[in-house]
Amino acid sequence: MTKKQAIIIGAGPAGLTLALELLRRTDIQPVILEQSEYMGGISRTVRYKGNRMDIGGHRFFSKSDRVMQWWFEMLPLERPPEGQPESEVVREIAYHGRRRTVRSPDRRSADPSRDEEVMLVRKRKSRIYFRRKFFDYPIALSTDTLKKIGLGQTLRIGLSYLTSVIAPIRDEKNLEQFFINRFGWQLYQTFFRSYTEKVWGVPCREISAAWGAQRVKGLSIRRAISHMIKDLFRAKPNDLEQKGIETSLIERFLYPKYGPGQMWERVARQVVELGGQIITNQTVDRIHTTANRISAIESRHSLNHERSNFAGDYFFSTMPVKELVRALEPHAPEDIVEISEGLIYRDFITVGLLLNSIKVKDANLAGEKLIKDNWIYIQEPDVALGRLQIFNNWSPYLVADPSKVWLGLEYFCNEGDTLWSKSDRDMIELAADELEQIDIIEKSEVLDATVIRVPKTYPAYFGTYDRFDVLREYLDHFENLFLLGRNGMHKYNNQDHSMLTAMIAVDNLVEGRTDKSNIWAVNTEEDYHESK
Ligand SMILES: Cc1cc2nc3c(=O)[nH]c(=O)nc-3n(C[C@H](O)[C@H](O)[C@H](O)COP(=O)(O)OP(=O)(O)OC[C@H]3O[C@@H](n4cnc5c(N)ncnc54)[C@H](O)[C@@H]3O)c2cc1C
Repeated sequence: MTKKQAIIIGAGPAGLTLALELLRRTDIQPVILEQSEYMGGISRTVRYKGNRMDIGGHRFFSKSDRVMQWWFEMLPLERPPEGQPESEVVREIAYHGRRRTVRSPDRRSADPSRDEEVMLVRKRKSRIYFRRKFFDYPIALSTDTLKKIGLGQTLRIGLSYLTSVIAPIRDEKNLEQFFINRFGWQLYQTFFRSYTEKVWGVPCREISAAWGAQRVKGLSIRRAISHMIKDLFRAKPNDLEQKGIETSLIERFLYPKYGPGQMWERVARQVVELGGQIITNQTVDRIHTTANRISAIESRHSLNHERSNFAGDYFFSTMPVKELVRALEPHAPEDIVEISEGLIYRDFITVGLLLNSIKVKDANLAGEKLIKDNWIYIQEPDVALGRLQIFNNWSPYLVADPSKVWLGLEYFCNEGDTLWSKSDRDMIELAADELEQIDIIEKSEVLDATVIRVPKTYPAYFGTYDRFDVLREYLDHFENLFLLGRNGMHKYNNQDHSMLTAMIAVDNLVEGRTDKSNIWAVNTEEDYHESK
């Protein structure tokens, strides 16, 4: 009897997880078609002259024990420091105060200085850079913050916050109104507006307030003020309560020694070892449908443009929904095409800069060459730069020569706009100039650079997104088509969510469940995102 076949579009976290789960738990044979030559999609590791870049900085964290367990099976956890029991490490990677009980299955642990396959446990540090000064991220209403802002601005922030408390904007519709109602106009202007508008490329008043409710939900000025007052009156640093607080604020995350792509290259190897197929350089551009099924798909080789045809029993798509609808044959009804064409994405450029050293230092890290941040939000409105990654601090193994500093400068843009269309040379010039302008580097210290352009990094929750349900219902009616992952579902999914959509799709096949609502339910719980 011939085996049933699954055609999977995309070798990102969702597509690769799906293939491995099918091989482990069913008789269905997976074939992945991937348009690039890389494994991991936007979670891949980019290599440049022995250095490695992570597009976006991918922390490995999940509220799902199933996902954590899966990761540990692929890459064993780093051996804890001398004298610290393994259980301590497991506890310290607790996310949002929730104690983790998962650990490497056979209690394997690896030594990063010797073993290649290892999941590092990294300390997280990120800050906001504004007016050439560092502020805690998420912004803390501490005496340090107030000192840096200055008395005049602090008073203005206080007054504008009081105005918002006394006379809030009724019928709050957009993100600007959402921020003002919670923080007041001045605080919104100071810490929220510039970065948010850089990310989305539109004024905050054109973004729905619902987005704020999902992403910024936990922040509250009342809580911040009560924290500040407690801080002022807290007893000496080493009293018991203080110790307890510091422990609960320690944040760590997991990170493969060679960046996120190491995980996905490892999974891809296992898929092939177990008999799955991964065909690279294949761009899926036609999807043939009958009444309520997909019958076959076609792809084009990205180098020689040869066309191939793939028939299958099940089809799983992680390609952007907009492109999937464009590929349907016969065409989707007009109203569906209209919604799909109105979906908006935000694109992304990362400039890798290799330097001898950077200029900015931490006062309390005297003698240290490098500040400790993993990434820094650039809130300065006079530069286009959105975020800065310090790859040395993600994993020292991302840098070929550890005496050098390896940075990633992130620019948010739209495919085809002036930033996107700049030559690599001009983009590198801009990046180095901007970092010098905001006093982070001396341009003369730059040794080498590279530019990576990544389309469709952020599926936007504006445009026609408010009618996405109609599109979803239409696509779900193809009974053997399953939409998975981030762009595949037009959802702000992290790696773990993307993986869970794949795992649940396989659960459904195993259990004979045909309704797809549990796949769409992944990442709908509102408290998932960072709230601290
Ligand atoms: C800036 C940034 C920071 C992030 N930080 C984190 C983080 O800290 N932690 C975290 O867990 N997640 C993070 N994420 C999210 C993470 O990158 C995604 O959730 C994950 O990569 C999505 O996996 P996926 O398989 O759904 O899609 P993708 O990674 O997009 O993979 C889709 C694959 O499909 C291929 N493809 C597309 N169209 C076609 C086609 N027509 N034919 C064939 N192949 C096609 C693509 O080439 C790609 O390989 C971040 C994302 C960004 C942009």
